[in-house]
Amino acid sequence: MSPASERLDAIRRRVAEAARRAGRAPEEVRLIAVSKTQSIAAIQALVELGVRDFGESQAQEALPKIEHFRAATLNWHFIGHLQSNKTRHIPGTFQWVHSVDSARLARRLAEVAGEGVGSQQLKLLLQVNVAADPAKHGLLPREVYPTVEDLLRQPLAGVQLCGLMTIGYLHADEDRARASFSGLRDLLEGCRQRFGDSFRELSMGMSDDFETAIEEGATMVRVGTALFGSRG
Ligand SMILES: *Cc1c(COP(=O)(O)O)cnc(C)c1O
Repeated sequence: MSPASERLDAIRRRVAEAARRAGRAPEEVRLIAVSKTQSIAAIQALVELGVRDFGESQAQEALPKIEHFRAATLNWHFIGHLQSNKTRHIPGTFQWVHSVDSARLARRLAEVAGEGVGSQQLKLLLQVNVAADPAKHGLLPREVYPTVEDLLRQPLAGVQLCGLMTIGYLHADEDRARASFSGLRDLLEGCRQRFGDSFRELSMGMSDDFETAIEEGATMVRVGTALFGSRG
């Protein structure tokens, strides 16, 4: 087995075990390979092993990669910070944006997506700064419902609000990580009750903490270094 296939196998096994511990089906968890800074060859190795979801945090770096794999019809997830004036290349290129941190950005993405002809809907997740860490982007938990209410006041053609995302603590102990993940899950449940069943996705968990995130309900985990090896 190649190193890539060994790493992928190990991650898939850990995903499945974490899901089972929580009484969930492993298929409920989508593994997103975070390929930022990784080469086309490294991505190709995972594509050949059946990985279909990739995450990138900078549009400029991602565009040539996405173009290269156009024929493979992969799912590309934008996970980095995005300014509302830098949205032009996102719809039609990425299928998901996990890092929507304002109503303004969501509207701007909808506008650009609406200009695309016949393209599929861009799926959006609201990024939440669960820990209210001033060094992090994202809505504060108390801003989530008002932001969604604001967004739902006008129809948003071209985009679909699908759920919430958070970036956990760096090197946090498991209890803290778990508390922030369960906090996000409670917020999603609140959104579902208020705004409907389209709120179903929880993007949380990275290389260090994806098993805890799955136990707390993650439907998407974003794994980079544990899958590719360390970033160059
Ligand atoms: C880089 C990154 C990841 C992956 O981090 P690893 O620790 O390498 O797994 C996940 N989510 C976001 C938002 C990132 O920027």
